Amino acid sequence: MMKCVTILGSTGSIGRQSLDIIHHLSLKVGALTAGSNVERMAQQCRDFQPELAVMATEEAALQLKEMIKDLPVRVSWGEEGLMEAATLESTDCVITAVVGMLGLKPTLAAIRAGKRIGLANKETLVCAGELVMAEAEKYGAEIIPVDSEHSAIFQCLMGVGNKKEVRRLILTCSGGPFFGMTQEQLKSVTKADALKHPNWKMGAKITIDCATLMNKGLEVIEAMRLYKLLLEQVDVLIHRQSIVHSMVETVDGAVMAQLGTPDMRLPIQLSLTYPERTDCPVEKLDLTKCGALTFVEPDMEAFPCLKLARDCAKLGGNACAVMNGANEAAVALYLEDKIGFYDIYTLVKGAVDAVPYIHKPNLEEILESDRLAREYVMTHC
Ligand code: NDP
Ligand code: MG
Repeated sequence: MMKCVTILGSTGSIGRQSLDIIHHLSLKVGALTAGSNVERMAQQCRDFQPELAVMATEEAALQLKEMIKDLPVRVSWGEEGLMEAATLESTDCVITAVVGMLGLKPTLAAIRAGKRIGLANKETLVCAGELVMAEAEKYGAEIIPVDSEHSAIFQCLMGVGNKKEVRRLILTCSGGPFFGMTQEQLKSVTKADALKHPNWKMGAKITIDCATLMNKGLEVIEAMRLYKLLLEQVDVLIHRQSIVHSMVETVDGAVMAQLGTPDMRLPIQLSLTYPERTDCPVEKLDLTKCGALTFVEPDMEAFPCLKLARDCAKLGGNACAVMNGANEAAVALYLEDKIGFYDIYTLVKGAVDAVPYIHKPNLEEILESDRLAREYVMTHC
């Protein structure tokens, strides 16, 4: 079991649930980082006494410093602070719970420092999965997925001796708030509707990604990178109940699944206790009460982002980084009420077509592709 944990993005949905688990397991906290939520960070510093607390800006850091001047917590800010948090000597596991491409550099830094990564920040693997996985191998850093589907697969794979025996993964998908709607109906959905996820309470960006099904597209790519599989080996099924978190089919036709109530604290805890399992404060699954479990194919016409993500996965190179950067920019615009629901897809597709393709991008080229994708969205919205 890990002893001292750092959380990048501690004030967010995954960050707060990670602190619940850290409290439950009586672990130490190395560093906590956040964007602008100074009040919540100050409270977390009081509750968990980290060695280091990092805010996005100097202004927020100065405010925090003032609020916790009675505590022995060092305060820092910006990318430098984030990098220091990711590599802190005392920490053995870093939970990456920041949202977006912002997580890439600190995740790479934590890997190079040999930390275990509890990976929630899927955008990192989408943009630079091959690079991240190669560095993890080189530095012997374990990457344990926190995303519920990938944790489910991780758990199913514990029962498979040889990776060559895997035929395919089946990622389950709740279908989001707009399941069953046609393209025509989707033209008039509001932001408030999109923010109502049926089964999970999450940050705003991923909640919109769930509504467009881009989240499942990102997860297909995340799964390919984590488990080094081909696109054809990663299927998606809509499973409205979010009880089966994902499945692995082996070459003999056996299908293994991991089931549980929808609660991120189980995969978070496993990322810290693995290879052990211990009691977890989540509601236990009662199969007699969860009703029928259903599975259907996703509608890729009404939800073209999933198809686009699969196309980008097929293209490889910098295509996924371009798609991800454009999606982050478009979702931010949607959350500011500046564009409509389908504009997200149109802008992301436009960026993928416009930004020049690079076959084997290095880190600088990935960052530049991300920048160009965002620029495309801002100039075409
Ligand atoms: P939230 O939006 O709830 O939290 C994001 C965190 O990142 C907050 O701590 C926020 O700080 C911080 N942050 C935002 N902007 C910056 C910035 N510019 N600089 C530094 N820190 C910043 O997101 P979630 O917790 O929902 O998601 C986090 C990641 O986990 C995402 O990649 C998501 O896809 C993934 N994930 C989430 C799941 C969930 O259930 N929520 C499930 C599976 C994966 P502040 O609030 O202080 O601004
Ligand atoms: Mg998920």
